[in-house]
Amino acid sequence: MGLVVQKFGGTSVADAVKIRAAARRAIQAHEQGNRVLVVVSARGHTTDELIDLAKEIHERPPSREMDMLLSTGEQISVALMAMAIHAEGVPAISFTGAQIGIVTDSYHTKARIRNISTERMEQALAEGKIVIVAGFQGVDEHYNITTLGRGGSDTTAVALAAVLGADACEIYTDVDGVYTTDPRIVKDARKIDRISFDEMLELASLGAGVMHSRSIEFAKKFGVPIHVRHSGRPDAGSWIVAEGDARRLGARVTGAALAKDEARITLTGVPDKPGVVRTVFGKIAQANLVVDMIVQNVATDGQTEVSFTVASDDLEDTLKVAKEAAKAVGATGVTHDAEVSKVSVVGLGMRTHTGVATTMFHALASAGINIEMITTSEIKISVLVKENVAKQALQLVHQAFELDVPGNDRPLESLPEWTATLALRNSPARPIATTADGNSTGGMEDLVVSGVELDDTQARITLLDVPDRPGYAAKVFDAIAEADVFVDMIVQNVSATGRTHLSFTVPREQLETARAAAGKAVGAENVRVEPKIAKLSVLGVGMRTHTGVATRMFGALADANINITLINTSEVRINVVTDFAAGEAGLRCLIAAFDLTAD
Ligand code: ADP
Ligand code: ASP
Ligand code: MG
Repeated sequence: MGLVVQKFGGTSVADAVKIRAAARRAIQAHEQGNRVLVVVSARGHTTDELIDLAKEIHERPPSREMDMLLSTGEQISVALMAMAIHAEGVPAISFTGAQIGIVTDSYHTKARIRNISTERMEQALAEGKIVIVAGFQGVDEHYNITTLGRGGSDTTAVALAAVLGADACEIYTDVDGVYTTDPRIVKDARKIDRISFDEMLELASLGAGVMHSRSIEFAKKFGVPIHVRHSGRPDAGSWIVAEGDARRLGARVTGAALAKDEARITLTGVPDKPGVVRTVFGKIAQANLVVDMIVQNVATDGQTEVSFTVASDDLEDTLKVAKEAAKAVGATGVTHDAEVSKVSVVGLGMRTHTGVATTMFHALASAGINIEMITTSEIKISVLVKENVAKQALQLVHQAFELDVPGNDRPLESLPEWTATLALRNSPARPIATTADGNSTGGMEDLVVSGVELDDTQARITLLDVPDRPGYAAKVFDAIAEADVFVDMIVQNVSATGRTHLSFTVPREQLETARAAAGKAVGAENVRVEPKIAKLSVLGVGMRTHTGVATRMFGALADANINITLINTSEVRINVVTDFAAGEAGLRCLIAAFDLTAD
């Protein structure tokens, strides 16, 4: 007998009619001979309304009480859903997160699941009941109610699918699948039939609100296929699956995303020496703040700038910590911008295609949109732009990659030889902490690092003092793409003075071609090269949301007295560039720091 987990989002259970329709979906799966577990969200805008109400009463409500309040939204839904199933004459039973033992840590409003005991659910399922579980909530070891963060019902559903060994997790929502970008913002967005876990992880964490990004971490770690479907239509939906099963797109980019409410913080005049970023991000991790888009470019005159973004809501708390950190490391100042947004493109095809960056930068330059910061990973490029042009930027980028054109899929080309070292290794995830044991799974959301990597085949090019104005990056990467050079990391920090540096890495054998092309575009006198660099990476799942991983990486390198010259981060890896000579030692200390064994 199969086991199916179905999750219904807020709009899919907004009123009695919709609850009945959702109930019928569950009953249908039950009648087909499956054991069925249903996860539900709070109805409609209940969670938003509860937050507004709390804020009317207290400007900064205590987070424990916030969780007590927010968890009620889902409790209403489970009871109603169970009643709707009973009304059809089918046995059903509802549970809160606490009742089925979804145990989390104690970080209220953003708790992580530690373990889930399956006993009570399995018993009810064995009795032939449809089991209804409240999404988004759990309980800590002291029986305090916790919630998992906005959108967290997806994570409950995939986690339950994982512990119960479900065949698939069906996500029923108000859109008929995963689109190339948010169809509410770009009306030409198209549905994607199949997308890989890594692409979805990046898209979700970069702003694609259709899935809670932590749910994709679970799906990848535990190999749970996800089927996203419209709750009111019979359409085929989208599958989120392992890379080998995902569509092999010849297209360079699979999707684009916008994170609108971002804030940027920059530490200026940061001394260029080992240990500095460890101190900065260690303090931020201690405060359990999730930073994103960490960018550090090469130093001039012994000083550099370190920038990162956080969700706007976290700006105030993060600024406090950043100021302390600046003092601790001897930085000269802290600046911030509360009105920025992040626009990103994601695609496995990027690993093998040149010219992705130039297409993106061109699209933005064509509308005079300035790029404030750039960071890349193997499968994504993110840029920071002013919030008031962010939607336009997303539309332009979506169009530039022809994501609105149906059927632009082509078979994936084979990897050129020199990109082989850049390809992500598909090694199985190796949990650092505990994993499944019998009926319960310990530390389910603990950090999983699957490996560390040294790539010492690349060279670095830095364009010094580039003007901070629209079109510059497009001009540079046009020339690079024209010369058919494969660009790996691109890093541009925010400009404090109207000028900034732009760095990127290329295969060493293409350095001279790249240097000549860049020189032609911006003047040879502005081009600095470092022919031999070492790129060290930590690979895994959920690198960004686990605030500690960057700190552990930076700390291990600092302990070995290794200086970091470039940083960029993504959901599936953190990359740093160091001196070539430090590569081997760096790799060894990362293997030790992450408790891995050398191959
Ligand atoms: P639910 O309440 O069912 O969890 P959400 O509102 O959390 O639903 O997620 C569905 C919404 O996500 C869609 O209505 C859509 O506007 C938005 N969205 C953002 N990015 C995407 C994307 N790439 N594909 C599909 N929907 C997206
Ligand atoms: N009700 C919660 C929210 O609105 C959880 C969810 O819908 O996934 O964020
Ligand atoms: Mg949602």
